Amino acid sequence: SQRVVIIGAGIVGTNLADELVSRGWSDITVVEQGPLHMPGGSTSHAPGLVFQTSPSKTMTHLARYTVEKLLSIEKDGHKCFNQVGGLEVATTPARLEDLKRKHGYASSWGIEARLVSAEECYKMYPHLNNEMVLGGLHIPSDGLALAARATQLLIERTRKAGVRYLGHTPVTGIERDGRRVTGVSTPSGTIPADIVVSCAGFWGVELGAMVGVEIPLLPLAHQYAKTTAVPALAGRGINNMINGMNATLPILRHQDKRLYYREHGGQYGIGYYGHRPMPVVAASLGLTPKEVDEMNMPSRLEFTTEDFDPNTEVADGFNGVFSFTPDGGPILGQPSHLDGFYVAEAVWVTHSAGVARALAQILTTGRSDIDVSECELSRFEEVQLNRDYVSETGQQNFVEIYDIIHPLQQRASPRNLRVSPFYARQQELGAVFFETGGWERPWWYEANKDLVKSLPPSWQPVERDPWSAQLHSPISAAEAWKTRNAVAMFDMTAFHRFDVRGPGAVGLLQRLTTSDITTKPGTVTYTLILNDHGGIRGDIFVLRLDDDVFQIGANTATDLAYLIREARVQEQNTPGQWIQVRDITGSTCCIGLWGPRARDVIAGISTTDVSNKGLPYFSLKKTVIRGIPVTLIRKSYVGELGWEIQTSAEYGQRLWDTIWQAGKLHGLIAGGRSAFNSMRLEKGYRTYGVDMTTEHNPFEAGVSYAVDANKKDDFVGKAALQRLSKQVPSRRLRALTVDDGRSVVLGKEPVFYNGKAAGYVTTAAFGYTIGKPIAYAWLPGYVREGETVEIEYFGKRIRATVEAESLYDPEMNRLRQ
Ligand code: FAD
Repeated sequence: SQRVVIIGAGIVGTNLADELVSRGWSDITVVEQGPLHMPGGSTSHAPGLVFQTSPSKTMTHLARYTVEKLLSIEKDGHKCFNQVGGLEVATTPARLEDLKRKHGYASSWGIEARLVSAEECYKMYPHLNNEMVLGGLHIPSDGLALAARATQLLIERTRKAGVRYLGHTPVTGIERDGRRVTGVSTPSGTIPADIVVSCAGFWGVELGAMVGVEIPLLPLAHQYAKTTAVPALAGRGINNMINGMNATLPILRHQDKRLYYREHGGQYGIGYYGHRPMPVVAASLGLTPKEVDEMNMPSRLEFTTEDFDPNTEVADGFNGVFSFTPDGGPILGQPSHLDGFYVAEAVWVTHSAGVARALAQILTTGRSDIDVSECELSRFEEVQLNRDYVSETGQQNFVEIYDIIHPLQQRASPRNLRVSPFYARQQELGAVFFETGGWERPWWYEANKDLVKSLPPSWQPVERDPWSAQLHSPISAAEAWKTRNAVAMFDMTAFHRFDVRGPGAVGLLQRLTTSDITTKPGTVTYTLILNDHGGIRGDIFVLRLDDDVFQIGANTATDLAYLIREARVQEQNTPGQWIQVRDITGSTCCIGLWGPRARDVIAGISTTDVSNKGLPYFSLKKTVIRGIPVTLIRKSYVGELGWEIQTSAEYGQRLWDTIWQAGKLHGLIAGGRSAFNSMRLEKGYRTYGVDMTTEHNPFEAGVSYAVDANKKDDFVGKAALQRLSKQVPSRRLRALTVDDGRSVVLGKEPVFYNGKAAGYVTTAAFGYTIGKPIAYAWLPGYVREGETVEIEYFGKRIRATVEAESLYDPEMNRLRQ
C-alpha cells in the first residue's frame, strides 16, 4: 500500500487514519506537534455540540455519518456521543419562520425533526425563560460529541491496526520531487510518503505555504465560558468537556441572541457569537509546549471579559481558536499543481468523521459516496484566495453565523472584484448586480421597469409571498417576455471558458467526456464528465475551434483543476503529446443574443451567413462584426434562436455598443440572470452542483442525451454507464409545475408523495412563458408524469404536478429555426 503521512492528530486526522485502516491501508504515520494525549488543537477544547441540519445536503449528510460513527466508538460501556437531542428556539417571529424552513431542510435530507410549541420547549428545557420563547425545532438525533475522547479511542484502535503516531513532532517542511510530494521533514528527520494529508486545522495556512498552496481559511478566536454553579442543575455530578455522557438536557441554540448552550454537570457551557471577530495568525502562537493541559494549549487564548455580552457569572472562560472560510464550508481535496498532497481543514467536529470518510474514499476509489464538490479546495477562484479576501469574508461569516440568510442574499463587501467590459453600460441601464465567484452579474435592469406595465395579461407577474419576493423584481417577467417575443442580450462573461490546445488535446477530451469530440472544427458539443462510477462530475460545452484547439465552456474552477491535472496525467502517458490548458474567462467576454429577432440584429452588422444553413444550431464561426473579431456560437441556454458572441476583453464595450445600436430597430433590451434562470428551467437545462452532482448518473438526471452510446473510444465512466444503462433508475430529476399557478418556492424544499417525504427541490423559478412556477425535484423513479406531489414551504403543503419535459418548445423548433 502507498505510504501515507497525516499531519495533525485532531478529530479529523485520527478519523482519517481510522477510515483508511478500515479500507485496508497499512502504511500510515500520523505526525502531531503536540503531545498525543492532548494535542492542543481545536479538538482538545471543543464543547462538541452537533447540530446536524443545514441548508446543505452535503454538510447534513457528513454530519449524519459523524453521529453514526461517534455512536459506534465505545470503551468501557461509554460511547463518544451523547444523543441528548438538539433544540433551537425562536424568540422572534422571523426566527420562528426560519425554523420552519429548517424543518424543511431536515425533511429534505432525511433527518427526523419536529417543530415544537413553546410549552414543549419548556418541557424539554425547564430553565428557559417562558416569557420569551415562541417555539422551537427539535432534532432527537443531535447531541454532544465527546471529541477529545473519540480522538484518544481512535488513536488506540488505529495503533493496534499498525498506524504509527509521532507526538511532539512538528512538520517543518514538505518534501517534493518536481510535482510530487515525497515526504515531510521534522526535527528528527524526513518521513518518506507517497501521500501527505494536512489535517492541521487552523494551522492549515502554514502547512499549505510549505508547498506553495494557498489555503483560504482564517483562524478566529471564539468565546466559550462555563457559568458558576447553577442551582437548578445542582446534583448533576461531574460532567466536564471530555466526559459529557451524563448530560441529559438537549443542546440548545438561542440564535436570536447568538448563543448556544450545553450542560456541564452543575454548570452551563455558553458559546457566544455576538462578539467582534478576533482573527489570529496561527504562526504567531508559537510552538506547542511540551506540557499541554486543559488550561494551557495553543488553541486556547485568554478570555476577554469585555467581549462577553451574556449577563452571566463566568467561572471559567476562554477564547478558543478555529477556522472560518470565505463561504463557510470546509476545505477538502488537492491542489492542481501537485500530486500526492491533500488537505482536510476548516472542518467542524460535527462533520469530522464524514469528511474523513469522504477523503478516505477518494484516496481509495477516486470518489466519495457523498458529493463533496462544495467542499473542494479547487472551488475557489484565484481572487478568493488572497488573504484580504479570506480575512474579510471569513470575519463576515463569523458575524453572520446565526443570522437568517436569504438564499439570494448578497454581501455588501468585497464587491466589484471582477466586472465584465460591459459593466459601465450595464450601470447606465440600472443593472442590479448579484455576485458570484467575485463577478458582478446583472440580475435585472431597472431600465426595463416600464415594460412591466405593457405586458400582456397572461404575462403579468403574480404577487409573491414576502420571502420569495425578497431580492426579486417583476422586471424579470418583462425581460423574459422580450426574449421570447423580440430579442435580448445577456452578459455571459462570468461563465468559465478554458482554452485547451496541443497535439494531446483530442485524446484528453475524448478520454474525459461522454461524447465523440472528434467532430470537424466548427462544431459545438454538450457533454458530461463522469467519475469511474458513472457519477456526473461536470457538464461542459466543447467547442472545436481547430484540429488541436478547443474551447471549453464550464461551470466551476474545479473543472479547470480537473482538466489541468488530467492533462498532466495524459502527457505522462503519451510523451510528446503536450496539452496546454488555460483559463481565458477574464481575458474574453461574451454576449448571449437571443430571441426570434436575433438573426435580424446580427444580419444588420455582419456579412457572415447567419442563416440556419450557414450557421446551424451547435456550430460556430470566427468572423468580424463591424471590425471586431468575434466567435459566433450558435447555442442558447434560454431555448431561443441566437448566438453567444465572444470576443477578447478589449473589444467588449465596442461589441456591446455595436449590438445595442443595431438592436434598437428590433426592440432589443438587456436581460438579467433572473429572467435567464426562469427560461433555463422552462427549457429543462440543468445546473451542475445544484440539480445534479457526482451522486447522480446521467440516466437519473435526465441528461443521457449527452452520452454518445456509440462512442468507440474508452472514456472515464464508460464501463459504469454500460452497466447503469440496463437498470431502471430508482430516482429521477423531474420537472414540476405548481398547481395554484402562483406559489413560488426557492429550492431545497422537501417534496411529499402520498403524504410521505419522498424527495427535494433542486432549483425553482416562476416560468413566465408557461405562466406557472416551476420546481425541479429529485423523486423516486416510480412517481409518474401527471401525478400530484406536494412541496412543503414554511410548513404549508403546495400541490404540484409532475410534468413531461421540456416545458417549453420540446421539439426545439425555436432553437433550430
Ligand atoms: P485540530 O483539533 O486543531 O487538530 C489539528 C492538529 O494539527 C493539532 O493537534 C495541531 O497540533 C496539529 N498540527 C498543526 N500544525 C502541525 C505541524 N506543523 N506539525 C504537526 N502537527 C501539526 N465544532 C463543532 O462541531 N461543535 C461545536 O460545538 C464546536 N464548538 C467550538 C467552540 C470553540 C470555542 C472552538 C474554538 C471551536 C469549536 N468547534 C466546534 C470547532 C471544532 O472544535 C474544530 O473545527 C475541530 O476540532 C477541528 O478539528 P481538526 O482535527 O481539524 O483540528
